[in-house]
Amino acid sequence: MYYDCIVVGSGNAGSCAALSAKENGCQKVLLVDKCSPDWVGGNGYFTAGAFRIVHNGLEDLLPIVQNVTPEQAKRIDLDPYSREDFVEDIMRLSGRRSDPTLAASLVDNSRDTVDWLAGYQVPFILSFHRQAYEVGGRQKFWGGLVLSVEDGGKGLIAAEHKALKEAGVEIWFDCPVVKLLVQDNTVTGVIVHKDGSELSIESGGVILAAGGFEANSKLRVAHLGMGWEKAKVRGTPFNTGDCFAIAKDVGAKLVGDWASCHSTTWDFNAPEIGARNLTNQFTKSGYPLGIMLNANGERFVDEGEDYRNYTYARFGKAILLQSGGFAFQVWDAKMLGILRKEEYGDGVVEKIFADTIEALAHKLGEIGLTGQAQFVKTIQAYNAAVAQHKMENPDWNWDPAVKDGLSTQSSHLSLSPPKSHWAESIDKPPFMAVKVCCGITFTFGGLAIDPASAAVLSESGPIPGLFCAGEMVGGLFHNNYPGGSGLSAGAVFGRKAGASVSKGKAMRA
Ligand SMILES: Cc1cc2nc3c(=O)[nH]c(=O)nc-3n(C[C@H](O)[C@H](O)[C@H](O)COP(=O)(O)OP(=O)(O)OC[C@H]3O[C@@H](n4cnc5c(N)ncnc54)[C@H](O)[C@@H]3O)c2cc1C
Repeated sequence: MYYDCIVVGSGNAGSCAALSAKENGCQKVLLVDKCSPDWVGGNGYFTAGAFRIVHNGLEDLLPIVQNVTPEQAKRIDLDPYSREDFVEDIMRLSGRRSDPTLAASLVDNSRDTVDWLAGYQVPFILSFHRQAYEVGGRQKFWGGLVLSVEDGGKGLIAAEHKALKEAGVEIWFDCPVVKLLVQDNTVTGVIVHKDGSELSIESGGVILAAGGFEANSKLRVAHLGMGWEKAKVRGTPFNTGDCFAIAKDVGAKLVGDWASCHSTTWDFNAPEIGARNLTNQFTKSGYPLGIMLNANGERFVDEGEDYRNYTYARFGKAILLQSGGFAFQVWDAKMLGILRKEEYGDGVVEKIFADTIEALAHKLGEIGLTGQAQFVKTIQAYNAAVAQHKMENPDWNWDPAVKDGLSTQSSHLSLSPPKSHWAESIDKPPFMAVKVCCGITFTFGGLAIDPASAAVLSESGPIPGLFCAGEMVGGLFHNNYPGGSGLSAGAVFGRKAGASVSKGKAMRA
């Protein structure tokens, strides 16, 4: 049995790889996934569909988005996001450890790749609800990330799989890859389990897009450390890291940050693995509008350190490290109307209300708050620090769409940790709290690739016939991550990998 190209993984990276292989000349393309058809799309299905790309502002984006009327466009403030901005965000958040060539390749191809996906009818939209606030009657975008897909990851995977079908890509589900075939140091195919038996399939090129090891609690503990067995998996349960071992067996080099991952503030009551109805709605990203306290009643992060897009991927870990591995997010009445309904709407999350902070502490005591008195003291101290800063800076205005500088640090009072922006008092009833935990998204360590071709590298150079894209690529993200980069990276390197397999096939012919 022979295919020109075999792609492993039905998520965003694998889908882009298969589409690209087909469009660049591979006749027979096979996509295999170990999941059943009802888990199609890997983590891609669970996403918000947010894509981070280089762009020149609103006018530049209007041709590819489907949700902006000319009237609306007049009331939008959306700054350009330059190549330098994107590169700097990746390098800054990775502590300058990101592979600069890999980062540059992602950034330089981000815009063009989104145009390419739009050509496959992926319904891109401006992300009003997640990435903009209405300020003074205008929609103000913030945090560099503006593009999303209609119906999030569900819409993205539906569009990509429709395109795969139309392109004639064959898809086999319930079909894990267990080994790579190698001949004369070239990868020549895969061995899969299918219908209870082992099957060898020859191929002109194999593209691994099988996700990270976030759904494997043993590997989490081995690489990320003790305690990570407790993290909830935000997406697919099938990303268990098997393909890393399979690739290592043929000499692939493992690189990047194997000791950390992307993890967020997640609903404490969410299931242990992703749920295909609510998907990303278990995210609880409203902390910049309020504060977070642990079971002892103490704050433990700077909730306003930066825009949410630049902090959310490491605050899951911060919560995991707290006593009991959970925390409480708290707001007062002033913020309740601004919290996103998708994440905090009725029926989406358990919301605890009270008319006084003392009564709120008492209620939270029933679900794990041990430091009730400290909880009250922490909020009183926070309010005092906010009031002092306001007194010293009477002309500063609270504005969630910019880093407004309203903080807890002043000449008289300083909190540790501070809240550096959007620090507003918590004093107007009703008060509301939700309980959150750590949700793991994906892991950062992975395979070394050549940024130009997405070929997998061994210690001595590219492994002929083997390519990689998506979460499986190592060296791009370390410790933290600019929101929306995962889908862009998967699309960019998936597209390159598909083209490379076609090129290799043409050269052999
Ligand atoms: C809740 C949530 C929200 C997110 N939101 C965003 C967002 O808005 N923007 C963004 O950029 N990123 C987001 N991410 C991250 C994003 O999902 C990933 O970066 C991206 O989807 C990874 O794509 P992938 O194709 O590499 O992996 P996946 O989409 O996870 O696909 C991997 C596939 O490989 C299959 N597989 C695994 N092992 C094998 C094997 N041995 N044989 C065959 N198949 C195998 C799996 O079943 C799976 O279907 C989010 C993630 C989650 C969980």
